[in-house]
Amino acid sequence: MARKKTKLGSASRYGPRYGSPLKHQVRKIEEVQRRPQQCPQCGRKSLHRQSNSVWACRKCNAVTAGGAYAPTTTIGIAAKRIVTKTGLKEVGE
Ligand SMILES: [Zn+2]
Repeated sequence: MARKKTKLGSASRYGPRYGSPLKHQVRKIEEVQRRPQQCPQCGRKSLHRQSNSVWACRKCNAVTAGGAYAPTTTIGIAAKRIVTKTGLKEVGE
């Protein structure tokens, strides 16, 4: 009999442990996390996750803070909109 193909992607490394829903969550997060993201400074797709919520560009060495597993989050976009609407300046500007 042919072996069944896995749907878990990178989370297949956990084998039979931790349960299906958790492994599907890990797969969904890691697909975004490991994909090269667009750098906000130079625009090239070379932004990689350095550590928790720290994103670094491999081309221009820019380091930015973002989401824990993705460079931008929906909450972060909403917060940025509030900051610009109310006229508050971002830290460092
Ligand atoms: Zn860059």
